[in-house]
Amino acid sequence: MSTDALRELYQEVILDHSKKPRNFREIDNASHDAKGHNPLCGDRLSLYVVVEDGVIRDMSFKGAGCAISTASASMMTEVLKGKTQAEAEALFESFHGVVTGKTDADEDALGKLAVFAGVRDYPVRVKCATLAWHTLNAALAEKEEAVSTE
Ligand code: ZN
Repeated sequence: MSTDALRELYQEVILDHSKKPRNFREIDNASHDAKGHNPLCGDRLSLYVVVEDGVIRDMSFKGAGCAISTASASMMTEVLKGKTQAEAEALFESFHGVVTGKTDADEDALGKLAVFAGVRDYPVRVKCATLAWHTLNAALAEKEEAVSTE
């Protein structure tokens, strides 16, 4: 995909997911949960995960944040359902590399998350895009303290 096409798709996807976030609800019987906060932008979210036998069976979030943090959380919950914890960690690593501009977007590995490569043009937004993922890490690691990107 060309850079222009990717950038256009990025705008489209962010708009769609921030307006209509997927899996935007609480899960009562979540096996893991955590709260995340990005003080730089004011994004806050609570993440709920149901893990069974090392597989993410369900995942959802609630909270208030900017379009990028909401869209990122929304897409993360969609993409990670049915994945193992190890696959989720590997995806976070690829995703992080792409949004920080350290690695090129590998569409084979990242699927639709590759559109977040657009974030690298806006360095202050990287924390918005990665907040949900950092919060997921904390949830899976069963940390009690709220996550802050600072
Ligand atoms: Zn934000």
